[in-house]
Amino acid sequence: MTVIEVSNLKKAYGELDVLKGISLRVNKNDVVAIIGPSGSGKSTMLRSLVLLEEIDEGSICISDAHLVKDGVYSKPQEIKTITAKMGMVFQHFNLFPHLTVKENLEIAPKMAKKESLKLIQQRSGELLEKVGLTNWANAYPAKLSGGQKQRVAIARALMMEPEILLFDEPTSALDPELTGEVLQVMKDLAQEKMTMIVVTHEMGFAREVATEAIFMDNGEVIESGEPTQLFTNPQNERTKAFLKRSL
Ligand code: ADP
Ligand code: MG
Repeated sequence: MTVIEVSNLKKAYGELDVLKGISLRVNKNDVVAIIGPSGSGKSTMLRSLVLLEEIDEGSICISDAHLVKDGVYSKPQEIKTITAKMGMVFQHFNLFPHLTVKENLEIAPKMAKKESLKLIQQRSGELLEKVGLTNWANAYPAKLSGGQKQRVAIARALMMEPEILLFDEPTSALDPELTGEVLQVMKDLAQEKMTMIVVTHEMGFAREVATEAIFMDNGEVIESGEPTQLFTNPQNERTKAFLKRSL
């Protein structure tokens, strides 16, 4: 079952063509790793799925509903329903510094006012346990390590019970010894069949966990395929050169 279908996505910043007609498809339970050099448009692509960027041309379809079709965005109410299916985790965590860990998790569902406080608190407790941070519930983000902050950010994204999780270089801001604990949480989610798109430089993770790998360069999808295939037997010269530099 297709959950994300992106077709012919184009975006420019002034004279700079950042996305030059990106197409990709994500099926339910897929873990798609997006790799590629800095500046190739990975973040812009991901951010356009959750409306943090506005695209110029193309279509984005999430679970059979169009966010944007041939460059025309759907109505705000429809867009809200569609983007609610997605959670995003950023490189720099983006936690609220003035809220405790627990409050960071609970603020969005509380504001949505769709369920009881009891349910929300129950879920935040469960999710903090899932990411191993039960003892940090009442701490402020400044007290946490980068790895802990990112695990809070993942738990916070899960609070909204998304169908799809997007990660933009979730371990790139972390000291090497802290990346493992974050990757482990992501592996657990993959094992639970969470549908994920992960922009990453962690080739080991991409190879081991992803069901599909996509190589982007200069605003285009250059090559995609089964990760082991793509990593061990890349077909395109640009993919070969990139992997040679990265592995
Ligand atoms: P990646 O995530 O692959 O490193 P980005 O999507 O962040 O790439 O950026 C792609 C290109 O778009 C880069 O050349 C970047 O400088 C440019 N860019 C990104 N955001 C903006 C912006 N808000 N204004 C102008 N240029 C931007
Ligand atoms: Mg980026």
